[in-house]
Amino acid sequence: MELFEKCYNYVQAKEVMSMGFYPYFIPLSDTEGTEVTIDGRKLIMIGSNNYLGLTTHPQVREAAIEAVRKYGTSCTGSRFLNGTLHLHKQLEEELADFVGKEAVLVFSTGYQTNLGTISSLVGKGDVVITDKEDHASIIDGCRLAYGKMLRFRHNDMADLERVLEKCDPDQGKLVVVDGIFSMGGDIAPLPEIVPLCKKYAARLMVDDAHSVGVLGENGRGTAAHFGVTDDVDLIMGTFSKSFASLGGFIAGDEAVLHYIQHNARSLIFSASMPPASVAACLAALEVMRTDPELPKRLMAIADKMRRGYQALGYNIGDSETPVIPIMIGDDMPTFMMWRALFDAGVYTNAVIPPGVPPNKSLLRTSYMATHTDEQMDRVLALFEQVGKKVGVI
Ligand code: PMP
Repeated sequence: MELFEKCYNYVQAKEVMSMGFYPYFIPLSDTEGTEVTIDGRKLIMIGSNNYLGLTTHPQVREAAIEAVRKYGTSCTGSRFLNGTLHLHKQLEEELADFVGKEAVLVFSTGYQTNLGTISSLVGKGDVVITDKEDHASIIDGCRLAYGKMLRFRHNDMADLERVLEKCDPDQGKLVVVDGIFSMGGDIAPLPEIVPLCKKYAARLMVDDAHSVGVLGENGRGTAAHFGVTDDVDLIMGTFSKSFASLGGFIAGDEAVLHYIQHNARSLIFSASMPPASVAACLAALEVMRTDPELPKRLMAIADKMRRGYQALGYNIGDSETPVIPIMIGDDMPTFMMWRALFDAGVYTNAVIPPGVPPNKSLLRTSYMATHTDEQMDRVLALFEQVGKKVGVI
């Protein structure tokens, strides 16, 4: 077949577009965090990862502007060569202290962090073991690695042990889980995973993209939440969510980080985080350290919404966090719900395969510390109205 034939024959997205249900790549003309403007209409945003609402925080905004004034707009090169500023080093030191690890290495995105960390560590003869609901960037990191990839059923400890048992005791082993799962909003049971990793001499990496700023004291993440920071070998995080910026980090022992720094291709062969992004992270970190009320407010809002959805009869799976899925199942009712909510003034995310397993389509909703109770009451009222109309509840 001619190379572009598959493109000319690709009709799935166009079919959904022609029905008026296409929920992706919608340009926002304005965003103030909890509200966005689309085609002159204001919608309540419950589809972002701006958990602490810091994208418009005066301190964070000002820090980014000041960094552009001082350093310009880009580092125009990789961390490895010309792209390391003292600002990057400062962020690494402050983050290491925040998450309670010896060292931190920052990458230009969370995606690249997972790609570079996993592919540099899991070499030929090693094995990487992932939860079936791990984020796509973890899967892609495993695909790039020379070692073998094995998977266990989501949050199923007996299945994790079955997989660990199968491995050669002398093989290098890395278990990778999401701290908070990005679609289900449930938490990896680290107090059960840690002893299994120790028993089978496997290293443990936790992707805390959705947990830093959310779980643990001052938002220090999943390991802090469970009090197992010393038992988690690698903590990964992203700056595109609570940190209100762009970039990612890996935290762990100095020697391991030194190795990753000299072997991770997504770090070495890609330009570093721009100064404004680094400065925004540093400012966001300062807010997290000094305002413990933010994660508490976020959790209170999440509790209210989980209770509200359940009272309305929605299936929210096992969510325990500010990531609350509305489980629907088939793609078409998911798109219809999304569209009706969109028209009513609520912005959610429709997630269909491969973002979720087949027949597990859902609306992903997520909350901010800056949402007001009035906004949340309005969202619940609209979910009641729309859910009944579409026939989901
Ligand atoms: N890990 C998880 C669990 C994520 O949800 C995401 C982003 N959605 C990433 C990694 C990648 O982060 P980034 O957007 O910074 O590339």
